[in-house]
Amino acid sequence: MKKAVILGGGESGVGAAVLAKVKGFETFLSDSGTLKDTFRDQLRKWDIPFEEGGHTPEKILDADLVIKSPGIPETAPLVARLHGQGTSVISEIEFAGYYDTAKKICITGSNGKTTTTSLIYYLLKNAGLNVGLGGNIGQSYAMQVATEQHDIYVLELSSFQLDGMYDFKADIAVLMNITPDHLDRYDHCFQNYINAKFRITRNMRPEDCFIFCSDDEVTIGELNKIVLQAQKLPFTQNGKVEQGAWLDDDTVRVNYQGDEFDILVQDLSLKGRHNVYNSMAAAITGKIMNITNDTIRRSLTTFEGVEHRMEKVLSVGGVLYVNDSKATNVNSTWYALESVKTPIVLILGGTDKGNDYAPLFDLVREKVKAIVCLGVDNKKIHDSFRDIVPVICDTLSAQECVNKCAELASPGDTVLLSPCCASFDLFKNYEDRGRQFKEAVRNL
Ligand code: ADP
Repeated sequence: MKKAVILGGGESGVGAAVLAKVKGFETFLSDSGTLKDTFRDQLRKWDIPFEEGGHTPEKILDADLVIKSPGIPETAPLVARLHGQGTSVISEIEFAGYYDTAKKICITGSNGKTTTTSLIYYLLKNAGLNVGLGGNIGQSYAMQVATEQHDIYVLELSSFQLDGMYDFKADIAVLMNITPDHLDRYDHCFQNYINAKFRITRNMRPEDCFIFCSDDEVTIGELNKIVLQAQKLPFTQNGKVEQGAWLDDDTVRVNYQGDEFDILVQDLSLKGRHNVYNSMAAAITGKIMNITNDTIRRSLTTFEGVEHRMEKVLSVGGVLYVNDSKATNVNSTWYALESVKTPIVLILGGTDKGNDYAPLFDLVREKVKAIVCLGVDNKKIHDSFRDIVPVICDTLSAQECVNKCAELASPGDTVLLSPCCASFDLFKNYEDRGRQFKEAVRNL
């Protein structure tokens, strides 16, 4: 019996363990931290042995196959030893792909993955298709392959997941954009991160489709360097394309093999320029999947968006509060600022991943009347914006921050939490930050 070892007992690890067990591997899961109760219960239910609070090297180095959580870097000592002795170390997605014959629609990018993945899933569901949602979102893909039967999967893929993928092939791959992020995991080399993102195109054949943003210079630069067999379908807001999606004044137009679709930008339920891109990517996918124009239109006009992404919370005293806690890098905050049409009180701060704030200066100068920092160390924000924003102050909790914003905002303004930074200094994660923000707004 072949031995599979799973490193990391989160959503993806437990799913991979169950699939390994179902497929007849002698399966063992190891986590250096503490497992959540629900995951421990699942492992017991499936009778899968595991350890937590540390790894026993002998049990791991003996594996025929190792499935690693995307959270564990390739440079972790145990992973390096596995590589050194020639053991295959793959991601949960690669592993599940071995056993899945469904059509796979895969979405990656620096920003917009979750929104676009959710929108495509919503569209395919509306078309009545038997579709599963997985990857970096929701329930583990491997768990679904082990226990359910779908004709199609829509998978959100992070660069870390892509790093552990070799033989996997997407039928439709969507690359939203590439801007610097997570460089700490890529030897501070942007090209390494670009290479990781482009792994989504591996193994693609001429009958497969690659959907990408032709306004993204990094994507275009890389496409000019590589040979890609898949059909290329660009989306753009600058000019027209033969096949793909483009903006014609205030109308989004799509053409796939002569079959056309169009929709007014103002009818899209997701607002902002970034969401025009996301909607374009979803519409092209819909056309490739032969979904009717009616269903595509209904989906793009009724999709409610995803929590913590430009989520309208409440209007209090004529001031609109928007939760964009997921904006953990400069590019996503740029799009948030771009999409708001009123004066803004902007909440920034948290754990800085090496931000260069300069791309925000023009929009901040034009729209932001005050910055309220929500973070432990705000020096870089003060230094960057001191000369262009009249009021910058510091707060250390969601409620203190929201109270301060309420003081500074006037009727007609927007208070925008779009912090540009990770949340780990004051919060468990971005969801925790977003929920505490919403709670604080409701307390006003
Ligand atoms: P991801 O899953 O890639 O992190 P999300 O859909 O969760 O992407 O959005 C993350 C952040 O980026 C949010 O603040 C959102 O408003 C913003 N965003 C969404 N789509 C795009 C896009 N196409 N380009 C830039 N920013 C985007």
